[in-house]
Parts: sequence; structure tokens; C-alpha cells
Amino acid sequence: RPRRKPLVVGNWKMNLNHREAAQWMIDYSGMNDAWEGRMTASGQPLDRPEIGILPPFTSLQSFIETLDERGMRGQLHVGAQTVSDIASGAYTGDISADMLSTLGCRYVLVGHSEQRRYHPEDDDTFATKMRVVLDNGMQPILCIGETQSGREHGIGIDYALRQLGEAVSQMGCEDMKRVVVAYEPVWSIGTGNVPDLNVIESALADIRDFINASFGADIAAAVRILYGGSVKPDNAASIIRLHDIDGFLVGGASLDPRSFAKICHRT
Ligand code: PEP
Repeated sequence: RPRRKPLVVGNWKMNLNHREAAQWMIDYSGMNDAWEGRMTASGQPLDRPEIGILPPFTSLQSFIETLDERGMRGQLHVGAQTVSDIASGAYTGDISADMLSTLGCRYVLVGHSEQRRYHPEDDDTFATKMRVVLDNGMQPILCIGETQSGREHGIGIDYALRQLGEAVSQMGCEDMKRVVVAYEPVWSIGTGNVPDLNVIESALADIRDFINASFGADIAAAVRILYGGSVKPDNAASIIRLHDIDGFLVGGASLDPRSFAKICHRT
């Protein structure tokens, strides 16, 4: 498989206030030593995946400060769960991409299913958010996936591919290389129901084929595609063996630093 750096991203959703976020970082950094000295079967030092955490907006600052205090800046990156599509102005309650990048964010989720559900926006807005995130030097993590009712009506990967096509419609090849795609069947998020491994594998292959058809083979080989939906320490190792997977977007299991560290170790 082409060498893409594996990526594990924890999405805290609306959990962990700024004090709890700092404590999470302290607990996680205590577990970090477990990496040292870990070897592959052939005796090579084990590569760490790239690791990111997406706290709620109000917890970003304390999380980043604690990250710095613990000397973890190079080992764990920070991102946000959503962003405004507009640069600045009279948009009460919204947060701009500049605010996030200035704070030190590296990633921004775009189109998470909970955002799509509770703050419905049209496809053009998601495409603009992708643009705004890239223009501010961050990486969008675009979430796509079919809903429960879609699944019941036999609508699967076509729905996700349509979401992908709309969101990247304004994008050139150089930008597309920096996009991360997270395939998250909505019926799997927070439910404990993980699709059959062959279903995940074929969805990831369809996504990469789509990128190949739209942007060419080099870009398709560069884009990282994550799986998200009820990833836990005990299923991560089997899912990561699938062809074409580059890591995970983890919700619930990222709230506990020990569970999250275990998932990272198994990636
Ligand atoms: C998510 O929110 O993106 C997610 C995958 O959640 P969970 O891991 O809890 O299913």
C-alpha cells in the first residue's frame, strides 16, 4: 500500500470542559511513555500514527496550554469540530477559521453527521468550509456516510460519494491532497454497531476510486481515508488491517485517555 502516515483523530463532541480537557491531557501524557521501546515483529521501532484531538471550542485553549506544558506539541495535534464558512463579521455565535488557525488548530471537521443533523446546511456551504479551512492553512476532515434510513432503503456508498463530490467540487489537486476523508456510516456512530469488515473495505475502495476518477492516481494515492463509527480498543486492530484504510475518527472512546491511547497503539 502507498506509504501514507496513519492518522487517529479523537472527536470529543460536546464533552469535557476546559478543566477536564487539561486533565485529559495530563492523564494521556502519562501514558505516552508506553510508546518508547515498542518494536515491530521485525525489530524496527514502531511508528506512531499522527494523532489529533478535537475538543469543543471552549476547551481548545486549556488543552493546547497543557499540551505545551507537557512537551507534547510534536506528538499530538489539535483541531476543531466545525467552523464558519465566513471570514468575520456580524455572525453571532460563530467561530472563524482564522480564530482556529491562530490558536494552533491543524484540523477542522467538516460535515460531521451530528452537524448535518442539528445544524442543517447545504452542500455549497460545506464546499466553502473546505475552502476556508484550507486557505487558513489547516486540513479539513470531511465526514461522509449514509444514514440509518438511507441504509434501510438500500442507499449506501452512493450517498456518501455524492456528499464527497459536492464538498470537493471547488477543489484543485494541490488542495485535495491535504483533505482527509472520514467514512462514517451514521447508523454506526455511537451505537456499537460496526459494519462487516468487507463492507467497510469496499466503501473505502469506492471512495478512493472516486478520488482517482476526479483528481487522478497521484492524488488518490495521497489522500488519507479514515473509518469512523464505534471504534474501540478491541476492534481497532482488526479494522486497521483492511486494505486502503489510513486510520480512525473516534468519538466516544476518545473521552477516556487510556482507551484512546490503546486505539492509537493498535493503529
Ligand atoms: C464520531 O463522532 O465521529 C464517531 C465515530 O463516534 P463514535 O466513535 O462514538 O461512534
